[in-house]
Amino acid sequence: MKFDLHCHSLRSDGTMLPRDVVARAAQRGVDVLSLTDHDEITGLAEARGAALEFGIRLIDGVEISVTWQGCTVHIVGLGIKPDDVALQTGLASIRNGRHGRAIEMAAAFDQMGIAGTLEGARKFALNPDLIGRAHFARFLVEQGVVKNMDRAFKRFLGGGQPCFVPLEWARLADAVAWIRGSGGVAVIAHPGRYPIDAQAMQALISEFKDVGGEAIEVVCGSHKANHVQIYARYAQRFGLLASSGSDFHDPRESHFDLGSMPVLPESCTPVWSRLH
Ligand code: AMP
Ligand code: MN
Ligand code: MN
Ligand code: MN
Repeated sequence: MKFDLHCHSLRSDGTMLPRDVVARAAQRGVDVLSLTDHDEITGLAEARGAALEFGIRLIDGVEISVTWQGCTVHIVGLGIKPDDVALQTGLASIRNGRHGRAIEMAAAFDQMGIAGTLEGARKFALNPDLIGRAHFARFLVEQGVVKNMDRAFKRFLGGGQPCFVPLEWARLADAVAWIRGSGGVAVIAHPGRYPIDAQAMQALISEFKDVGGEAIEVVCGSHKANHVQIYARYAQRFGLLASSGSDFHDPRESHFDLGSMPVLPESCTPVWSRLH
């Protein structure tokens, strides 16, 4: 069975409609897919219809933006119930901050002599109020300001760069509570990507477990090869289930296409043992 438990659609900062993401996953041999848009679950109904049509299993998912000790951490929820009111209200509260942040980011680009970025970013989004850094990055690439998305983050949008505007996202305990409260399993997304040392990683994992978190991504599109063994060991040591997801956003941009990740190491207990 092929699992891909982390990917995005145009409902957040992917570039394909939920239906097309599901169709592509089915075509690429994925048996079980979770659509995990950022702070947004309105794509799941469309994805569910497509999953029936194309004959694959869909796990309802979400990727929640969290601020933990000043650092942005992403928590994936798998097997959530999209009609859960506490989850919906919580996600709406984080999405609200994006509007003002996008305006501030555009002002920072104006200051650097790069005009029209808010309108430009909006062209790449389905929901004009749900603007993220990837939308800005796509506009910069389109305009030839940078040659690819990675350069856009290195020069402008990444932490500490001139157009980075920090936002206070959800609290770790709240994000995990929304996921668990709606019947889901909470997963630390792409742990290898956070700019924190081993001591802070252990503190993050301990706190995550204390508040009810159960899994960690070991195989992930934004992981380097050496991260797989490192996080397989963390999973074992802390008794966490292991997840695997492409973090697919777009066929040209993404490191892994849907379902094309390496297998989980033998030492891991897959998170799908917990999902029905
Ligand atoms: P935001 O939630 O608006 O802060 O944007 C975060 C998103 O930006 C991530 O989910 C990725 O889709 C994207 N992103 C972050 N870093 C990079 C990078 N170096 N290259 C391409 N996309 C990135
Ligand atoms: Mn993204
Ligand atoms: Mn993420
Ligand atoms: Mn993601």
